[in-house]
Amino acid sequence: MRTLTFAGRELPALGMGTWYMGEKSSRRDDEVAALRAGLDGGLSVVDTAEMYGSGRAEQVVAEAIAGRRDEVFLVDKVLPSHASARGTVQACEQSLRRLGTDHVDLYLLHWRGSHPLAETVQAFARLQEEGKVLAWGVSNLDADDLAELGGVVDLHECATDQVLYNLSRRGPELDPFGAMATVGMPAMAYSPIEQGRLLTGAGRRVLDEVAARHDATATQVALAWTMRSGSVLSIPKAGTVAHQQENLGALQLELDAESLALLDDAFPAPTRPVPLEML
Ligand code: NAP
Repeated sequence: MRTLTFAGRELPALGMGTWYMGEKSSRRDDEVAALRAGLDGGLSVVDTAEMYGSGRAEQVVAEAIAGRRDEVFLVDKVLPSHASARGTVQACEQSLRRLGTDHVDLYLLHWRGSHPLAETVQAFARLQEEGKVLAWGVSNLDADDLAELGGVVDLHECATDQVLYNLSRRGPELDPFGAMATVGMPAMAYSPIEQGRLLTGAGRRVLDEVAARHDATATQVALAWTMRSGSVLSIPKAGTVAHQQENLGALQLELDAESLALLDDAFPAPTRPVPLEML
């Protein structure tokens, strides 16, 4: 299984997203089962946020990990509007209640808002001292934002920057991955299959061609591609056991040079920095 060093731990390079979970009661049992199937298959990272379904995704996670907390590396995020020194602590405590746990393994600032980064980082430090947060990081910050963050805290303390990264969104390869590499910071790739659009877009034919070369599926190719550098943790969201099991297969898939070249032709790398995109 492909792993990477992340927040001081050795973790599978594939995790599980939860955006839109808990929003339709008819899908809830499938979502819980999908997360459990991921854990059964050896995954440990579960990514959620107070924003997702206004806390309902956290409640789905709570149900899925009940009795299995030790198997899980739990990632949660504070909304920018809550990210003051006091608000961050309160938001975290509310998330912990919904999650049914006493700590998260990683707590991220979801995106930059109006509260100074120094205040949010101060709150993260307090939550760490209290054992409610084991590590902290950021999301949707570009290289300039990271430089600003580096002005208020040693960037080595920031465990990750979670960004939109997939075959159709390669901008991060220049910004912010370059800045992150200088401090050895791994990335988290969100929406790694572009919320399913990669499977229906013009590049599908090439994904299928590469998949056939490896006896894999188009989704597995797209996911394996995001993990190929060894410094990216990819967090697709699977709402069914079948999707989760298919995604698990990406951990065994090593794309060879010819496949990578085919994908580069169909989904070219950026030649100059582009503004960081977010969903
Ligand atoms: P995604 O993982 O790229 O795509 C999810 C979609 O793909 C769902 O519709 C899912 O359908 C489908 N899917 C999953 N596995 C599949 C498979 N094997 N075959 C076919 N379809 C499949 O998009 P995402 O949910 O936006 O991103 C992943 C996670 O990243 C989120 O859930 C969230 O945790 C995180 N995220 C973070 C941010 C941020 O700002 N930090 C922003 C966006 C997302 P089913 O549900 O039917 O399985």
